[in-house]
Amino acid sequence: MRTSEEQLDLLIIGAGPAGLSAADAAAREGLNYLVVEKGLIADTIYHYPIGRTVFSTVNELELREGALKPCREKPTREELLSHYVQFVLQENLRINTEEEATRIERCQPEHGFLVQTTRAEYRAARVLVAVGGMAYPYRLNVLGEDLAKVHHQFTEPHPYVRKDALVVGGGNSAAEAALFLAEEGARTTLAIWRLDWDNRDPKKNAIKQWVRTPLEEQIGLDRLQIVLFTNVEEISEREVKIRKDDGGLLRLPNDVVFLLIGHRPNLSLLHQVGVETIKEGLSEVPVYDPETFETNVPGLYVAGHFTHARHIKPAIDVPRRIVPLIAQDLRAAV
Ligand SMILES: Cc1cc2nc3c(=O)[nH]c(=O)nc-3n(C[C@H](O)[C@H](O)[C@H](O)COP(=O)(O)OP(=O)(O)OC[C@H]3O[C@@H](n4cnc5c(N)ncnc54)[C@H](O)[C@@H]3O)c2cc1C
Repeated sequence: MRTSEEQLDLLIIGAGPAGLSAADAAAREGLNYLVVEKGLIADTIYHYPIGRTVFSTVNELELREGALKPCREKPTREELLSHYVQFVLQENLRINTEEEATRIERCQPEHGFLVQTTRAEYRAARVLVAVGGMAYPYRLNVLGEDLAKVHHQFTEPHPYVRKDALVVGGGNSAAEAALFLAEEGARTTLAIWRLDWDNRDPKKNAIKQWVRTPLEEQIGLDRLQIVLFTNVEEISEREVKIRKDDGGLLRLPNDVVFLLIGHRPNLSLLHQVGVETIKEGLSEVPVYDPETFETNVPGLYVAGHFTHARHIKPAIDVPRRIVPLIAQDLRAAV
């Protein structure tokens, strides 16, 4: 393990939109900063389905006004990814990819933090954790969930043409996956809880209208069936047993299953160093000052998807606001 002699002003953990925005703001403030990223630049976006059009508008996604120029109104995964990568290259942001932060320790209050990664150990006056909310997919915990044909992430429909595909989940990711599969010729079933199917309220995570409309078209064309279910009871090599919400048992022939029921963040870095978290519905969020995003551990900040600021726009906006405050604080401490 290499120990860096350098004393960083700010160590940023994660190079998603929040981490990139923080790096950009830190560079503008003249801070000595470093980003460590366990995967690739904008790794979450890299894992979006191939060719997917994002639902946000350009001004909500771009890191510099006018820099993201999609062919159509909204960018695809590829255009967005390229924008983030080009931004890092043009601004020469300091990012170590494929380096995971494994531990944050607080030194004496006035001496900041020691951060261990899979490659080195760094000293930093302040730490900003921007690890996103995608670390662990929720599981159904049913028999057969670990079979090779069961996936917790959807990437592309092509391998499943003319195959029996089941998608389980009530959010946009599940609805989109079912739509892509049906459109590309997989015999597709979307298993969804009645409450999720009946929900039309965009504020309560209803399936977006521009996904729902083509989805309903596919249902009308008999290319996609919806099953309102209470339980997936068992997944086996050739079929899936589903308990429908009318009580009946459905045995679906099946080649592939996508369980797309959401993700939760890995908060272990925060827990180790003593950051308080609270349960909120199914998820857990850190406790932080809503103005500064500083946690109960002085000098340790959070931003992005695992806070209350979930989508890309706030993930970019919050660091723009808080990094200048961190810089001000550091200057005042000298
Ligand atoms: C399929 C899909 C479609 C979506 N579409 C949209 C959309 O259209 N519009 C929108 O606004 N939002 C969308 N979202 C949500 C959006 O991706 C997130 O809001 C956004 O990525 C949040 O940015 P972030 O920087 O907080 O987190 P992330 O982008 O998740 O970045 C966190 C980064 O931290 C890294 N990391 C994690 N742990 C460590 C560690 N210990 N050490 C080092 N690095 C670490 C991760 O590898 C990751 O790169 C979508 C999400 C999915 C899954």
